[in-house]
Amino acid sequence: MQQISHDVIILGTGLAGLRAAVEISIRTRGTADIGMVSKVQIMRSHSVCAEGGTGAVMRPEEGDSFELHAWDTVKGSDFLADQDVVDRFVHQSPDEIRLLEHWGCPWSRREDGRIMQRPFGGHSFPRACMAADKTGFFEMQALYDTLVKHNNFKRYDECFATALLVEGGRFAGLTLYDLPTGEFYVLRGKTLLIASGGLGNLYGFTTYSQTVTGDGQAIAYRAGLPLEDPEFLQFHPTGLVPSGILITEGCRGEGGYLRNNKGQRFMEKIAPKMMELAPRDIISRAEMTELLEGRGFPGPDGLDFLHLDLTHLGAERINKRLPLIREVCLKFVGIDPITQPIPIRPVAHYSMGGIEADIDGRTQVENIWAAGEVACHSMHGANRLGCNSTAECLVWGGITGGEIAKYLGQALKLTDMPEAQAREEEKRVFDGLLQRNGDENPAHIRRELRALMDKHAGVYRTGQSMQQGLDKIAELKRRFRCISIQDKSRIYNSNLMQALETENMLELAEVLLFAGLARQESRGAHARTDCPSRDDDKFLRHSMVYSSGGTPRLEYKPVTITNWKPVERKY
Ligand SMILES: Cc1cc2nc3c(=O)[nH]c(=O)nc-3n(C[C@H](O)[C@H](O)[C@H](O)COP(=O)(O)OP(=O)(O)OC[C@H]3O[C@@H](n4cnc5c(N)ncnc54)[C@H](O)[C@@H]3O)c2cc1C
Repeated sequence: MQQISHDVIILGTGLAGLRAAVEISIRTRGTADIGMVSKVQIMRSHSVCAEGGTGAVMRPEEGDSFELHAWDTVKGSDFLADQDVVDRFVHQSPDEIRLLEHWGCPWSRREDGRIMQRPFGGHSFPRACMAADKTGFFEMQALYDTLVKHNNFKRYDECFATALLVEGGRFAGLTLYDLPTGEFYVLRGKTLLIASGGLGNLYGFTTYSQTVTGDGQAIAYRAGLPLEDPEFLQFHPTGLVPSGILITEGCRGEGGYLRNNKGQRFMEKIAPKMMELAPRDIISRAEMTELLEGRGFPGPDGLDFLHLDLTHLGAERINKRLPLIREVCLKFVGIDPITQPIPIRPVAHYSMGGIEADIDGRTQVENIWAAGEVACHSMHGANRLGCNSTAECLVWGGITGGEIAKYLGQALKLTDMPEAQAREEEKRVFDGLLQRNGDENPAHIRRELRALMDKHAGVYRTGQSMQQGLDKIAELKRRFRCISIQDKSRIYNSNLMQALETENMLELAEVLLFAGLARQESRGAHARTDCPSRDDDKFLRHSMVYSSGGTPRLEYKPVTITNWKPVERKY
């Protein structure tokens, strides 16, 4: 089997992967040789979809402070965030905004020429730096342009990573299915950064691109790395009905209202101070309660909805600050938000958990780092605040890039190649999966899995519903063994890629419910109606799920608390 070597392999070319590549290039003065892997073309990573903004303290003189940003983040996390990690984050994110500025990101501006910041949920100061409502798109362009100047990387676009090869406790290689050529080979590197994004497509109703299927989490888990806090899946309060396309929190940051079918701003009852700018977990629960108690509007396929009302903002503000949102509403639902309310409901959006990584982004395997949504540095705890994710990708892209550059300075050799493992993996994909000739259709299994997660692992959960979900997943896993992939060719076999993704998704769905069932409390995004209170005595700790011979095994890890003891969250 062909083997290709680089100094560093970066799996994933979203904000985290690109930012890390830029940092490595700067620190090594362009001498490190980087292999950049993406299952889609480099600029099609989900990060380009980020809309509303990137959070940072930019105006201490106007009343914001690091301490305030840290407190908002810790309180938003329902006290599950590691406070040393949050502290590092708030101190480094302003530098990332300024770096992007130097690299050409066209931030929106205030009248006085300074970078504009808008209010975002759970933040007690306007902190979201933005490029209109296309923030991720412009950030990605700025990073890619900067990386190209160093010219020290090779792109592996449309290459699907199927497995992580670990030998003697060290990263040895990544097996890749190269879609355009149909080849299967191993990328070797002295180090690996996993920056492969989230897993939103575990759910049917989601804001995520079709490609976001948690492959990085699944291959790391199978290779022995633990997944931390996987039960915390964020529901964003405003998914467009019926597609699930994200309607940015920036809409509420600009002053939008949420209303029920009586025209009432129902957040009054729940968060009288912050109203529509309360954290996402709280608003999503308030919305579900309105819907369950019959104060929504009937929608297609059971997708009842509420209204996001921007009509009082005026055409000028909407056209200037929210042009993408207007375009999306006009194109996808034929509604003009200047004059009509937008149909929305809670939508699966973000994974707070991920591959366990320490404050420097290092995983339990010494030469593997993780950054971005795939990682869990314990920065968001049980609920992430809006605009803290793109910022986290930039901060930990920078940190892991710096750490990797240092590591490369130690003149390391490649780890010995586990040839047998690599051949096994090729057989698993092409002789195993691709040649299966059962009567199950993998696309149906994927659809059923996503519907199951909507139903059994939604905004509100119970032990019983999660157990039922687990039982159904076990059944889907059994059925998956009897699939048949219609296309048997090797060139650009998207059926095969989707089957590989579905296999990963089945694994992650099981892990999510398994950890959720064990967490007998309600905290942040994990809201159990059968255990409605937070239980700090038993569960102020991180879940760590390991794969133990193919079945999940749970351990716990303490939360790092430096400044703030848990208190009741009021907004
Ligand atoms: C619609 C939307 C809007 C958002 N808006 C905001 C916002 O305004 N502010 C904010 O802070 N956050 C926002 N978020 C969240 C934030 O954008 C994401 O968490 C973040 O961009 C993730 O970046 P990433 O670098 O971790 O991964 P991604 O950008 O998702 O990139 C993942 C990369 O991994 C690659 N990859 C994955 N699996 C494989 C595989 N098997 N083989 C090879 N390559 C693979 C992909 O091809 C891709 O290159 C938004 C999210 C969405 C979906």
